[in-house]
Amino acid sequence: MGRTTRWILVGIAVMALVVGLVWQPWTATAEPQQRDRFADDRPVPSSESSPMSRDQFGQDRAGTVAPGKAIPFDGKRSLQYLTELCDIGPRVSGTAGMAKQQKRLVDHFEKHGAKVTRQEFPARQRSQKDAVTMTNLIASWHPDRKQRIILCSHYDTRPAADQEPNRRDWHKPFVSANDGTSGVAFLMELAHHMADIPTGAGVDFVLFDGEEYIFDPGVPGIREGDKYFFGSEHFAQDYAKQRGQLPYRYEAAVLLDLFAHADARLAVEGYSFAFAPGLVTQIWKIAESVGAKSFRFERGFGRSLDVLDDHVALNRAGIPAVDIIDFDYEHWHRLSDTPEKCSPQQMAEVAKVITTWLQGWK
Ligand SMILES: [Zn+2]
Repeated sequence: MGRTTRWILVGIAVMALVVGLVWQPWTATAEPQQRDRFADDRPVPSSESSPMSRDQFGQDRAGTVAPGKAIPFDGKRSLQYLTELCDIGPRVSGTAGMAKQQKRLVDHFEKHGAKVTRQEFPARQRSQKDAVTMTNLIASWHPDRKQRIILCSHYDTRPAADQEPNRRDWHKPFVSANDGTSGVAFLMELAHHMADIPTGAGVDFVLFDGEEYIFDPGVPGIREGDKYFFGSEHFAQDYAKQRGQLPYRYEAAVLLDLFAHADARLAVEGYSFAFAPGLVTQIWKIAESVGAKSFRFERGFGRSLDVLDDHVALNRAGIPAVDIIDFDYEHWHRLSDTPEKCSPQQMAEVAKVITTWLQGWK
């Protein structure tokens, strides 16, 4: 490299630095503005199924929430459960890791007084030669009650950490802590308190298998990839088929996914509001009344705008279902999605909202 070329390169580097410095403050202030404008102008998803106008979204916020009995949800213990599950290693559908997790969960929920049902079904992924047996686990509290609520999460882990920038890292063991597993750990801790929560509803913890049994994500617009949501679709279709004959009815469902990190921002996800605006309003109103600051009664933004997740199948089967999610989680589908990214305080804050909400069912 000649001296002149070197100086040209140094010059370009200096210019890039100057542009970077000038640019950065501009983008930094632009982002919150954009978020605020978004929350203000577009609280209602564009989906046709949304029956509410923006004004209704605002108006529904009025009203008070009766205070509930305080439930001593132990955030630290829920994080211990999370660590314990992640220590099993990957828990991909149909693998030994998943089987080990299932056994641990069945034992745990039965020990705390739930009636556990294994909903098994064969599933064949498009990119795979053989079918696997998938299992939704259902832990039922007050199984005799006809008015029922679902609290749910997926409990399988993705075969590849496909957001790792270096492809060589994709197939290193991925434990998926906040993605799915945090919801399972949350429900494990909640199991300690279910007998003491004064609610008139029966509650089913539903753990979905095969949410992201994805080997081939496909190419958008060119080639269809693998199918998501095996577990929730099976559960929802099974329920819809039998609904006339069942002795109970699901009144509402809350899905927990990517909610447990310390700086979680739980805005309103689009499909939740499109399908179940009343339920969204109820839950976010309770969050406000109990001081759960991670819940924001505003439209999700960025990746959290409209999230296809397990709640969609439930809503399609006629169960109003809300996804409590912050998809803008930097460790999503990366090897760094590990238990210490999750916060005991955050889990306890979400528990305060959920347990207060459960007490509203008479
Ligand atoms: Zn995921």
